[in-house]
Amino acid sequence: MSSEKTEAIILRVVPFSESSVVLTMLTRDFGKISALAKGAYRPKSAFEGAIDLGCHCRVVFIKKSSDALDLLTEAKLERRFRAANKSLQRLYVGYYILELLRELTESDEPHPDLFELALWTLRKIDSADLNPGDLLDLVATFELQALKHLGHAPSMDVCATCGKTVGEMPSVPFGMISGGVLCLACRPISRQVVMLSKQTRDAMRQRINGPPGLPAVNQTQKSQRNGELRGVLRRYMSHHVGHELKMPRLIDGIGGG
Ligand SMILES: [Zn+2]
Repeated sequence: MSSEKTEAIILRVVPFSESSVVLTMLTRDFGKISALAKGAYRPKSAFEGAIDLGCHCRVVFIKKSSDALDLLTEAKLERRFRAANKSLQRLYVGYYILELLRELTESDEPHPDLFELALWTLRKIDSADLNPGDLLDLVATFELQALKHLGHAPSMDVCATCGKTVGEMPSVPFGMISGGVLCLACRPISRQVVMLSKQTRDAMRQRINGPPGLPAVNQTQKSQRNGELRGVLRRYMSHHVGHELKMPRLIDGIGGG
């Protein structure tokens, strides 16, 4: 048993007893961990209001053996996730980011780049300078860059099955299970194939290879491709985690905002 210090984002809070909770956190140095916070809701606890979904905090915890929960001993709030003050859609988008972080990561495997991307994205979601129309673009960027940091970015230039270059065409087959674009020879032997327009293929490439942030596009381009891009990514992320994700349905259900 050793005491460890790191930064964390709170991904899930589950009540454990009257005043204790079990937290799932993404940490900068230890990857995803689950820890018991005893007396979390008691007044003057060692957690000072830092235990809430999406909070960025500095934590101290005692690492237990592999089959036991770690024990959180301190949490100091760095930044609260405040999207609820802005709109329901921003809140849901933030919760979707947390859902993806839970589902895509394995316990105790650190990914500092993914941690940075998550912090940046959560800050952006509740910042006043984000146009509500850019929210879904931000989601797409996060999805593809998170996959890249985890080594699972879809193959956009060469066939995901045989590795042959797939040239530029008005539309190309994309295999959900294969994990990328497909050549004409591999397409008939692949399952769960959708067609990607050149515009959507370019949008995905731009996000995988670009810096975090929003590519400069005009509003017409954006609305034309958002529908197809969302559809493809929603299916792809579900395939990748092995089941349907909860938050996308809620985000799609409330439309713009
Ligand atoms: Zn092929």
